[in-house]
Amino acid sequence: MTRINGAPSTLQSLAEREQYRVDAINDMEGDLKGDDCPLCKNRGYIAYLEDGAIRTRKCGCMVKREALRLIEQSGLSDSLERCTFESYSTPKEWQRQAKALAEKFITSPDGWFVATGGVGSGKTHLCTAICGRLINSGVPTRYMQWRTDAPRLKGLVNDREEYERMINPFKRIRCLYIDDFLKGAVTEADINLAFEILNERYNNIKLITIISSEKSITEILSIDEAVGSRIYERSKNYLLEIAGGNNWRLK
Ligand SMILES: [Zn+2]
Repeated sequence: MTRINGAPSTLQSLAEREQYRVDAINDMEGDLKGDDCPLCKNRGYIAYLEDGAIRTRKCGCMVKREALRLIEQSGLSDSLERCTFESYSTPKEWQRQAKALAEKFITSPDGWFVATGGVGSGKTHLCTAICGRLINSGVPTRYMQWRTDAPRLKGLVNDREEYERMINPFKRIRCLYIDDFLKGAVTEADINLAFEILNERYNNIKLITIISSEKSITEILSIDEAVGSRIYERSKNYLLEIAGGNNWRLK
């Protein structure tokens, strides 16, 4: 390319040409899954000009895609489609109140959302619906299924590096949903694991934690006070205890 010094029209056309290339990149359709983004057309990045050079930056939708990828990996994606606020039926007053509480929580997630109750109490449905909304609004979210993830972590006691690699996201991700917390018989190793994750999240006020459990808060407190009191304190405004049937209470 021949450059003519001091020829404004040429300079302008160079800039125009670069802009044309940027526009062409930004017009391309990408093939990323998980979200339909009008900004990057599912490429995941946006091109722009800086000091005459073409650069790219990550599109905002990548946070959501990453959250969805992790959710998919953990097997929650089917439930996310099934368990929405729209599909949560509310024939009874307590269900309407439970739903209202969950909806209030998403408008400004403050503290932790904890739902306890037996199988069929709808606690998982509501917690999953909250996760779905948070993911859609771009909150990085991880799903921890206690029944499968806790044994996996406990099995890594002799592999510190792998243990840290696996547990750190649970401790630090902006939003963590622990499903079926402390399910089954609880050992000391379970308590240590629960404390390690929850204490870190307790100490960072910005983190959102959602917990569903068949064990009531009273039971959790009697199993371990340090774990129970942290959950109780953080979930003060959003503790939903469903005892089954018409027997329920909201805190
Ligand atoms: Zn995008």
